[in-house]
Amino acid sequence: MILNYRLLRDCFAESYDEGRRKFLEACDNAGVRVDSRVNPHGLTSEDKPLSCDVAWFGPDNATHLCMAICGTHGLEAASGSATMIQWILEKQYQHLPKGTAVLFVHANNPYGWAHNSRTNENNVDLNRNFFDHQDHPDNAHYMAQHPILLTEKMTEGDCATIGEKLAAYEQQHGKVAGLASIVQGQYQQPDGLMFGGTEAEWSTTNLRNIIETYVSTVKKVAVIDWHTGLGPFGEPFLICHHPKNSAAYWRACALWGKERIEEGGAFQNPDVAPEFKGIIIHGLSALLESMEVEATGVIIELGTYGNGAVYAGLMMDRWLRFTCDDPDAKDATVVRTKMIERFNPSQPEWRMSVLNHAQVIYKQTLAGLEV
Ligand SMILES: [Zn+2]
Repeated sequence: MILNYRLLRDCFAESYDEGRRKFLEACDNAGVRVDSRVNPHGLTSEDKPLSCDVAWFGPDNATHLCMAICGTHGLEAASGSATMIQWILEKQYQHLPKGTAVLFVHANNPYGWAHNSRTNENNVDLNRNFFDHQDHPDNAHYMAQHPILLTEKMTEGDCATIGEKLAAYEQQHGKVAGLASIVQGQYQQPDGLMFGGTEAEWSTTNLRNIIETYVSTVKKVAVIDWHTGLGPFGEPFLICHHPKNSAAYWRACALWGKERIEEGGAFQNPDVAPEFKGIIIHGLSALLESMEVEATGVIIELGTYGNGAVYAGLMMDRWLRFTCDDPDAKDATVVRTKMIERFNPSQPEWRMSVLNHAQVIYKQTLAGLEV
């Protein structure tokens, strides 16, 4: 792999402000108007507005659309953002298939990115929030684990102890319970992990509004929600939530490769996966289908340091937000630096690999939409 340091510098950002500036500049140079949607529930640490920026490339009356979202989990935004910036800088919009457009949703959760957290201004995991909120399921497995997370310090030793306790829970109660206790999402503990909220959050309503605004002539959409964390280092790990063997599932296989879709298939297997609620790709697909638009979606994780390190990152995020007394103290700074590295690795090899994979994926998606 050839490392193009200039490209990395042009595309990657170490903060929300920097990422936003690079995205806006790239759009401006491409002559594309940006639709900036300001989240009224907060500001950046420099008291600037928190904006989710939306840009459309291609004909106004496109019938086929590739929609990409970054920063659903705030802090994970940097790599998805970099893939968008590269795509614009390399003028890929000049090579769109006929009748096809690309819609970038940059910083779906601007608060999280600006404040170095995966969750939003209300500690809500937006990828558990996209549903009607008529009914909030209990998650007894999570509630059993919650007290384990309330550790006063967050040293390596504390992380290891928490990890051992979580593993012991899975040993005792089985794989579904183990996964449910960490990643399923929960609606009971607002200061807990993967809290799905009690109503639609600003970003959720904003995404609905984006669909209603931009998808008027569109008949066919492929949605990519960029994340980081799960999967091998620097490699894409695809999670497709369409029910196995449904029409949408087979379309996802055709667009992104059957092998890759099957690789992340544990999340569709009721023997090992709990039932998820509020997943954005689910919600968007249902919304689009209700508008008679054919929708195919996928979560693309860009793997970082392994599942254990990523789960510890979730705990660090929670600790920084709710437990630590002084966010500027040395121990908090150490924890924050570690956490950021787990969701936005600094290694040039990781970043280059991510960019290379993503450009292939954009090409594949655009070509696949044409079929
Ligand atoms: Zn994520």
